[in-house]
Amino acid sequence: MKTKIHVTVIGAGAVGVAAAVSILHGRVASRLTLFDVVADKARGEALDLAHAAPLFGGATIEGGGHDDIHGGDLCIVTAGAKQRPGEDRLSLLARNEKALDDITEALERHPLPRVVLVVTNPVDVMTEAMRRRLAPKGVRVLGSGTLLDTLRLRHALSGLLAISPESIHASVVGEHGDSSVCLLDSGRAGGLPLADAFRAKGIALDDELRRTLAANVRGAAYQIIARKGATSHAIGVAVARITRAIVADERVVLPVSAPIDDATCAGIPCVLGEDGASPLALTSLSVREQAEVEQSLSILKQRCAELRSA
Ligand code: NAD
Repeated sequence: MKTKIHVTVIGAGAVGVAAAVSILHGRVASRLTLFDVVADKARGEALDLAHAAPLFGGATIEGGGHDDIHGGDLCIVTAGAKQRPGEDRLSLLARNEKALDDITEALERHPLPRVVLVVTNPVDVMTEAMRRRLAPKGVRVLGSGTLLDTLRLRHALSGLLAISPESIHASVVGEHGDSSVCLLDSGRAGGLPLADAFRAKGIALDDELRRTLAANVRGAAYQIIARKGATSHAIGVAVARITRAIVADERVVLPVSAPIDDATCAGIPCVLGEDGASPLALTSLSVREQAEVEQSLSILKQRCAELRSA
């Protein structure tokens, strides 16, 4: 293993373990530690994963309980309650704010990590809560934001256009949740504006198709949760992608949760590198996109204003 990076994952549930597996497959970390309030869960998952260490480039894999928490170089927070079938993400706020308070206190007992990546929902509000606590101490805080939503949009567009998702550049911004905004007017496929790419297939990018795509993105988690109880695989891969971009100082642009003002975080395209996420301005939006983004940001501003640390 060339890179001597210690990644810690707090919350050894479905998302934390999926992220750990993807990070180890990608050989992004030389050492990975899982922590959970249920210490045996973290230790058991770590032991199970450690047996694959010879196939993960010899990474050191350990587990621990809440009292053992420390941040390493880059700390990923996936601890807390998940959505029950039909429940929205914002309703997790009260339950998960307490979990994040406990975790922040535990982290502060040791040298702090350089970067904290928040995944726990509602991710934008949780990122802001963590940022208020840790940014004044020099920690770069970001959240997984709308990267997963963006992957879902690109997957849907790829199916309709029969173009590889790698050639589709269309982002979802704003809340990772029910008010997320698909930037279809600004999106491109193979260099063409999306409307032109659709026209070439004999499809109109009309209001009905826009509503279908937005419903597809916003409803994806509900559909998966109704079937298997939680989403885990795609978010695990997305978290590993963000981690690699930071560890390797890639300067790649991905939509993650970052400050849009001094009291709110939201999903916005950011340059990712060793200093965490540097937001890019959302310019050249259509009138329709601008209105939807303002609506989504106003929901997040209101929820961030309700944080106990406000
Ligand atoms: P899970 O129930 O499988 O795992 C959560 C784990 O957190 C549990 O093992 C629990 O014991 C642990 N935990 C709770 N409080 C803790 C604390 N104070 N310290 C340490 N560990 C603690 O849930 P999951 O499916 O892994 O989901 C985890 C979170 O990730 C949820 O909030 C979920 O909504 C969120 N999520 C976010 C995204 C995203 O795109 N941001 C996607 C999927 C899930």
